[in-house]
Amino acid sequence: MKLLIVDDEAEICDFLKSFFEERNYDVRVASSGQSALKAVEEFKPQVMLLDIKMPGMDGIQVLSEVKKKFPRTKVIMVTALETRDKIEECLRLGADNYITKPLSLEYLENDVREKLESLSGSNTP
Ligand SMILES: [Mg+2]
Repeated sequence: MKLLIVDDEAEICDFLKSFFEERNYDVRVASSGQSALKAVEEFKPQVMLLDIKMPGMDGIQVLSEVKKKFPRTKVIMVTALETRDKIEECLRLGADNYITKPLSLEYLENDVREKLESLSGSNTP
């Protein structure tokens, strides 16, 4: 169960990393769009939590690249005060869901699990 967490705020990465590691996920974090793309290539996560607002390459650009190269990777967008327009753009680009900050960890965990289950259901050996 490989999960990649992408957020430019280190505290959010640390917090989510320990939360999911306690639940036996194999977690990596990235703090920028560029390093997120690198991590996707190397780590090949099944699910990704992706912050929209980051300096430089933002989450929307990362989403678009990831869905082009690795369409099976499930991407859950993490947003603070994004506009409806941005969220709709993400969904159009193939985002699998979105969650707003402040984060509800229970909701987030359920969603991650659900995305993983939908993957294993359609897995080829
Ligand atoms: Mg941010």
